[in-house]
Amino acid sequence: MRIIIGLALAGFATGVGAAVAPEDVDAGAARIKHTIEVLASDEYEGRQPGTAGEEKTVAYLQSQFKQLGLAPGNPDGTYVQKVPMVGIFSSPVTTFTTSGGKVLQPAVVNDYIALSHRTVPDVEIKDSGVIFCGYGVVAPEYQWDDFKGVDVRGKTIIVLVNDPPVRDPRDPTKLDPNVFKGKAMTYYGRWTYKYEEATEKGAAACLIVHETGPAGYPFAVLSGSMSRENFSLQNPDGNAKRVAVEGWLTLDYARKLCAAAGFDYDRLKAAAVRPDFHPVDFKTTASFSVKNRIRTLDSRNVIAALPGADPAKAGQYLVYSAHWDHLGRNPALKGDQIYHGAEDNASGIGGLIEIAHEFAALSGSDRPKRTILFFAPTGEEQGLLGAEYYAQNPLYPLTHTLADINMDVLQQIGPAKDVVGVGFGNSTLDDVASAVLAKTGRVLVPEPEPEAGRFYRSDHFEFAKVGVPSFYINEGLDIPGKPEGFGKEQFDGYYSHDYHKVTDVIKPWWDLRGAALDADFLFQMGVAIDQSDVWPEWKPGCEFKARRDAMMAAVAH
Ligand SMILES: [Zn+2]
Repeated sequence: MRIIIGLALAGFATGVGAAVAPEDVDAGAARIKHTIEVLASDEYEGRQPGTAGEEKTVAYLQSQFKQLGLAPGNPDGTYVQKVPMVGIFSSPVTTFTTSGGKVLQPAVVNDYIALSHRTVPDVEIKDSGVIFCGYGVVAPEYQWDDFKGVDVRGKTIIVLVNDPPVRDPRDPTKLDPNVFKGKAMTYYGRWTYKYEEATEKGAAACLIVHETGPAGYPFAVLSGSMSRENFSLQNPDGNAKRVAVEGWLTLDYARKLCAAAGFDYDRLKAAAVRPDFHPVDFKTTASFSVKNRIRTLDSRNVIAALPGADPAKAGQYLVYSAHWDHLGRNPALKGDQIYHGAEDNASGIGGLIEIAHEFAALSGSDRPKRTILFFAPTGEEQGLLGAEYYAQNPLYPLTHTLADINMDVLQQIGPAKDVVGVGFGNSTLDDVASAVLAKTGRVLVPEPEPEAGRFYRSDHFEFAKVGVPSFYINEGLDIPGKPEGFGKEQFDGYYSHDYHKVTDVIKPWWDLRGAALDADFLFQMGVAIDQSDVWPEWKPGCEFKARRDAMMAAVAH
């Protein structure tokens, strides 16, 4: 394989790698920076679906893909896939009444948030019994059931975020690796799962207790959603089957509510870690009145294609993805009201365009044999909606889709020696990645915080859910020339200060050479996948493997 842009760590004082010129890295970094400057500018208004910001973003992406000579990615001859959505502003009023007659009215944002995805203007729940359901998990493979047959139809259930942290009987200082994957978060820990299970059980409302550590982000990340329009996919039944009220309680308020009902939060939490936990009736009622302001809209996924050069393989697809959308603007804020989303995910789009640039530069026998898709979904911030819509309405057969490689926030602190593989160990894509990285003296490493559940938090997860092997990276943390701990400090700093805040803007100290290196690595990874006859697959034990094996068994390649 000929390295075209050939970005590698050589040329930097890193002592690793053995390839190419630093000026290529600089050029890649400059292109990525330019994309971020455009998309994170005031003019794009925070790229909220259904706004002028969407129009501009979609137009910009199309023009970039056209300029690179890429074909329309939708077989209908366009660069877009319409995604029918519903946008809702919810205003909730909530009252708890204990059996002792105490009445509590939590304050929106300070104490809790709640919204309804039902597409009706008024959602009323009167005097629904409040039941604490531990982690709200039903996991047959771990013989775990937090409901124990208790009928929660029409009830308000309160659940804890993340998986039950079950201690290892052989070493109680650690979590049991055989139950809920130990320290790593499984899908049972995700808030989306909690609401799905509440829906399944017929609950009227589901309130999750927020704790920053187990959730992976502070409460402020959630409270912003009360002053914003929230989206879901359009559904013929108006989401009537979905749990009517979806909300979160702050930890402080959860303690207060427990105490008012005569319970101790920490005791309940400790009990919930045991497999013999039984739901606890608070002998308290909850009433909700949610006013919804509703509109329907067609948002758009953007998709471009580089058709495969080998007619025998052009009907096989490799997808690169990065969401274009962000959180729009909040007129209630003083000062800057725009969620610029420079890192999240203008940087990922920068990477997507950079990878497209590298593929488009390939000529002759270097051209990929298979079709490469460049996919920028909408509505990621609203629950991976654009990617979910694609996964349910794929433009190309999923059985002919080799893999999805996703970007969501790229490296801004300079070239790193490592790349963090989110969901490390899930698939053979890790092995492809490691082999590619080794050529430049770099290395793929597992997540330092698998408990944050990041594998479930970006668009590749929608591909995984329907079986397609998918790969997602976080920024590497080992930065040559910087003191130990520097990378982790920067990473944590972003999540506590800027993530989903108006301060997610380009910083003067950014060094996007790391982003350029990572984009090049993902490009090289795609080249390696394209050149191989071996299809990427989930590894044994991975929760997505059965689905992929079943769909592939039905098709001959
Ligand atoms: Zn993102």
